[in-house]
Amino acid sequence: MLSGQPEPYPHLFQPLELGFTRLPNRVLMGSMHTGLEDVRGGYEKLAAFYAERAAAGVGLIVTGGVSPTFRGRLALTASQLSYRWQLGKHKCLTKAVHAAGGRLCLQLLHAGRYAMHPFALAPSAIRAPISPITPRAMSARQIETTIAAFVRSAELAREAGYDGVEVMGSEGYLINEFLCAHSNQRDDDWGGDFARRSRFALEIVRRMRERVGDDFIIIYRLSLLDLLPDGSDWHEVEQLAGAAEDAGATMINSGFGWHEVRIPTIAASVPRAAFVFASARLKSRLRIPLITSNRINTPELAENILANGQADMVSMARPFLADSEFMRKAAQGRAASINTCIACNQGCLDRVFKKQRATCMVNPRAGYETELNYVKTTVQKHIVVVGLGPAGMACASIAAERGHKVTAFEADKIGGQLNLSLRVPGKDEFAETIRYFSNRMQELGVELHLGESASAEHLLALDADAYVIATGVRPRIPEIEGIHHAKVHSYIDVITDAASVGESVAIIGAGGIGFDVATLLAHRASSNWPEQWYVQWGIDVDETSQHALLEAAEVDVVRAARKIYLCQRSSEKPGKHLGKTTGWIHRLSLRRAGVVMLNGVRYQRIDDAGLHIIKNQVAAILPVDTVVVCAGQLPNNQLAEQLQRHGKTVHLIGGARKAVELDAEAAIRQAAMLARDL
Ligand code: NAP
Repeated sequence: MLSGQPEPYPHLFQPLELGFTRLPNRVLMGSMHTGLEDVRGGYEKLAAFYAERAAAGVGLIVTGGVSPTFRGRLALTASQLSYRWQLGKHKCLTKAVHAAGGRLCLQLLHAGRYAMHPFALAPSAIRAPISPITPRAMSARQIETTIAAFVRSAELAREAGYDGVEVMGSEGYLINEFLCAHSNQRDDDWGGDFARRSRFALEIVRRMRERVGDDFIIIYRLSLLDLLPDGSDWHEVEQLAGAAEDAGATMINSGFGWHEVRIPTIAASVPRAAFVFASARLKSRLRIPLITSNRINTPELAENILANGQADMVSMARPFLADSEFMRKAAQGRAASINTCIACNQGCLDRVFKKQRATCMVNPRAGYETELNYVKTTVQKHIVVVGLGPAGMACASIAAERGHKVTAFEADKIGGQLNLSLRVPGKDEFAETIRYFSNRMQELGVELHLGESASAEHLLALDADAYVIATGVRPRIPEIEGIHHAKVHSYIDVITDAASVGESVAIIGAGGIGFDVATLLAHRASSNWPEQWYVQWGIDVDETSQHALLEAAEVDVVRAARKIYLCQRSSEKPGKHLGKTTGWIHRLSLRRAGVVMLNGVRYQRIDDAGLHIIKNQVAAILPVDTVVVCAGQLPNNQLAEQLQRHGKTVHLIGGARKAVELDAEAAIRQAAMLARDL
């Protein structure tokens, strides 16, 4: 920021007074499990991860969830804090964050019936629909020892140097399970009416406050919307918030939806700030600060929420994976340079579910701060990058950041296949990635040749030190009789509106792109957005509604704009290879839209009558007027061979290197690793 300029985000950068301490701004980096918590040597890497974000100015950071007991661990290998001998690794985190000028709270999370091991405990022995394990119902004694364990963990957290704790009371974990009849069918002092169901949560906060003293942050993460038919009603939410305040909570954080609920709460298709309405409703009932969250990913949006008085603080988690410098850039009025979280979940949650370390699709350094560093080069090279899709953009930017002279060619538009993705409903955030890398390349002085298809002769004449070929992919055209019929189009022509699509469509190929095309073709444009989204997922935003859910009859099941068949040859479940945390949303949306998904299909031919197939050894015709081919990709790598023949140093990255099973996450990671080593 130039001196004399007004603060770009006055509400965001307003300190928050907590009485015993003062937070420098209104941004909380929300709890995220990174996978580093559970591996040997992970805490040093985690310390670097948090410290980098603290140094850039995040007001307060909350760690990933750590269990207060053995049985409350999410998995048997997950973290627990119950004993003094466990303090060392936590001190390593607090020291690093404090040295960077930040503040850190430890999240205490008892997994309850979401624990993925046979020792799971819950208020009642009711299995969660997303778990294969039926938990044991807790005895009254186990309840008492669990409360004591939460208190002990908070005490140890204080000893480890944490500035406070967050008590995880939402998302369907143990505390939340006690609150709702859905999972609490006890008839003792811990179940029955709401006063008894909420006793577990409130005893934890009350006894914790007594033990840790007044000058220690206790955030209570409260489920504002369970999104369950038998979840808490609004009156109970307000009652609990008030009681948590009285019991000694410093702040209330907002949680939305249990993990088992089939309503998306953080995916890219969720409108930005979709759940802030519920925090805003609670805010006026509280004396202590209220934090809001979910799908808030830009400083402008956070500023507006605060300026409108909808919350006192804004929690963002994944946006800090996408850009560790988010707060510094916001403070400097450089929001256009922020690498924005596009809520894809591919690098973070999807990887964590596969027991891999969390990172970020648009920022592969996230979680790898000690390993993937873009060190300034001592020998400047001339690097030519051909193709500015995800791989090319990332490679050009990082190579230039390291001090190389970079010349980049793009025959079409910057962004490559991301330009197709962003046209798919629910994927418009991809535009942010293109914006970020475009700005970044310009800031770093990359010489851009846009709309120029570079020939091998032209490239050779540049006599560069290295050529990076990131020319992406071309669609595979399967050998099916009639594939050149007038009714057959490639996904590119359909997504870009270059081909007109009729009333009935068969899609050949049910991979990521087949699903995207089905979503696009099923979509009915609505001027009533995001209201339509709430109705589509059955969310009632009306204060008077009991459980924030619409009656089934009110839910506008959005039928597809046309008849759609989505076909694949393999007999596995269509969409099986989509992201773990988002695939179900795509499958459910298409099913509700009436899209027919066919697996185990053999394609016979395409003619005027439609697409002839054999399924279950029976011949059938899909009587369609349009066939869209989404049958995978082939690498576009001809240039590489020509340059190599002339003895040039050539690197192939992204789809040009390997088209099968490649996506933007792998492409950008590959590009970053190459650029680090150039
Ligand atoms: P893909 O996911 O590999 O799917 C290709 C589809 O084409 C499969 O359904 C395959 O199924 C079918 N196919 C392959 N060869 C065929 C042939 N000769 N004849 C007929 N059908 C054939 O590829 P994609 O959909 O093109 O996506 C490319 C990459 O982008 C993938 O890695 C994908 O994960 C990624 N992507 C991801 C998302 C996302 O939401 N995460 C969205 C878009 C793209 P059968 O062999 O069973 O017929």
